[in-house]
Amino acid sequence: MTRKTILITGASAGIGAACARLAATRGYDLILGYNTDRTGAEAAAAEARAAGADTRILQADVGDPDAIAALFAQIPRLDGLINNAGIVAPTARLTDMDHARLRRMFDINVIGAMLVAKEAVLRMQAGGVIVNVSSVAARLGSGNQYLDYAASKAAIDAFTKGLSDEVAPQGIRVVAVRPGIIDTDIHAKGGEPDRADRLAPLVPMKRKGRTDEVAATILWLMSTEASYITGTTLDVSGGR
Ligand code: NAP
Repeated sequence: MTRKTILITGASAGIGAACARLAATRGYDLILGYNTDRTGAEAAAAEARAAGADTRILQADVGDPDAIAALFAQIPRLDGLINNAGIVAPTARLTDMDHARLRRMFDINVIGAMLVAKEAVLRMQAGGVIVNVSSVAARLGSGNQYLDYAASKAAIDAFTKGLSDEVAPQGIRVVAVRPGIIDTDIHAKGGEPDRADRLAPLVPMKRKGRTDEVAATILWLMSTEASYITGTTLDVSGGR
């Protein structure tokens, strides 16, 4: 059987790197996207290769449309996309957010994800799958924390439904996962290294989630076991 190739954006760390590890063991070949962390991308690629996956790493800032075009110039065809690259910004109220912050948030988390999905669709055939990585923030709104991030992820949920309707007749599925509080470095990058531990007691399951738990859900949605699932979002959030 021909091996399938998946592009994972944001594969140099956290949830994306966990997806790379699991996808390699499930028999996929991989293209691992990263922006600044080449060392992380190389480490993820080394693990994937050790598990038998033909693996390339490609740098691209998904906030830059020219970089996305250059990335996809190197990708002739795709069977799957894990549309995972994303950022948060430091805790702030709307009244303290400026245009530059909002622009960056939406350039990367929304427009970048949409352009990456567009280029992926253009390279997919029937059986192709896109898994967008949203957040429970899309439901919660994240007031007093980072409502710009929450709004960007709510856009991803709407985009997931809209794109799924457009490409379902082509046999392409589009779904989203909404992780809750997952133990990655994204919280430190947003200026709050202890955020996951601080918020864990608010989760009904009373703990933070692990990247492998999110990756398992994403790879299940990617698989033929989820062949009749499209246009929907699945929370991976311990009940929050
Ligand atoms: P992470 O550990 O900070 O990893 C983020 C990844 O995204 C890195 O590989 C990073 O690449 C990449 N990235 C960031 N900006 C980029 C850009 N402009 N262009 C290309 N790649 C870029 O974060 P994570 O927690 O794994 O988050 C992954 C996804 O899950 C994000 O969409 C996030 O919003 C979502 N999520 C996370 C949580 C959570 O609690 N962790 C909860 C809900 C949703 P470089 O490091 O190479 O720059």
